[in-house]
Amino acid sequence: MIYIHIPFCKQKCSYCNFHFSTSFSLKDEMMLAIKNEIKLRKNELNHKTIRSLYFGGGTPSILTVDEIKSVMDEIQKYFSFDEAIEITLESNPDDLSKNFLKELSQTDVNRLSIGTQSFFDEDLKLMNRAHNASEAESSIKRAQDFGLENISIDLIYGSPTSNFEIWKENLNKTIELQVPHVSSYALTVEPKTALKNWIENGKVTAPAEAEQNREFYYMSDFLKDNGYDHYEISNFGKPGFHSKHNSAYWKSEAYLGIGPSAHSYDGNSERSWNVTNNSIYIQNINQNILPKETEILSEKDRFNEMLMIGLRTSWGVDLDKIRQNFSSEIIDYLNKEIKNKIESGILKIENNRLLIPEKHWFLADGIASDLFMV
Ligand code: SF4
Repeated sequence: MIYIHIPFCKQKCSYCNFHFSTSFSLKDEMMLAIKNEIKLRKNELNHKTIRSLYFGGGTPSILTVDEIKSVMDEIQKYFSFDEAIEITLESNPDDLSKNFLKELSQTDVNRLSIGTQSFFDEDLKLMNRAHNASEAESSIKRAQDFGLENISIDLIYGSPTSNFEIWKENLNKTIELQVPHVSSYALTVEPKTALKNWIENGKVTAPAEAEQNREFYYMSDFLKDNGYDHYEISNFGKPGFHSKHNSAYWKSEAYLGIGPSAHSYDGNSERSWNVTNNSIYIQNINQNILPKETEILSEKDRFNEMLMIGLRTSWGVDLDKIRQNFSSEIIDYLNKEIKNKIESGILKIENNRLLIPEKHWFLADGIASDLFMV
């Protein structure tokens, strides 16, 4: 699978610490550099048939459809697309105009991940999103009108401007709009963000964890009652609409990440990440230098990562894979560590897979890190 990072956004959302620039002055050079990087790294994936391509960011929907197509054309010079390839474009509601969607619907892009976040203006203002509540709704309907049915929306719960009733209405609206996939995250306060600054200066109340917990479990029950599978802590999909790209990532498959700040993984023990600076990225690529750092994961790193990612999913961690790929020291360690947690019901084993029962998913990251080998 291939991930393309488009490092531009129209404005900075108050809670976001991803890598992007709000100046588009380097956009043309960036698009050339991204295509050059694809060429430079054409031999890195063992599989030449791609099952998933994901445009993330940043905001890939600030690109023109021709720019998106030119990246796909470049990839197809070196890789072929599987018949059932999933090609996702992350997009913001304010970019999804009729013209854009009409042109996009004539390309190979077959999945939209829309940064809706909320259907309420108060929430969107606090988040400093570039769209309003009416665009949040109309963008989804417009995409569906152009035949783009495979839609995922992002929703944020636990905002200080929201409450339980508003959250329920957000979920009702999701069902009403017949969106087949939802990615939903609690509002978190990241370092170096406007939100953190406002909270420290007393301008905004910090998100309340107990309320987030309540909204998370309500969402889980509500979406499951409406036909969605809760297949990863933050992800819900109707059958046939689970994200292929993210599922492959959670199953520790190899991926190639192109663009500044993009990460790559060889599916075994090598991980790399590109520089998080647009100018430096472009300068290096123009000289045919890959601006990336590489690390070789130790056995402990691979074990910890497998737990961290696998225990967030409904399929859990494959114990046979652990037995085949890790030393007896790690296997003995795991058997010892999980014993008490299984007895207390925080973990369970089903079909030879280690899982966290869904009622404890809100605490999954803590449960997994308790099992880490240090
Ligand atoms: S649009 Fe997405 S990447 Fe850009 S600032 Fe907002 S949350 Fe961050």
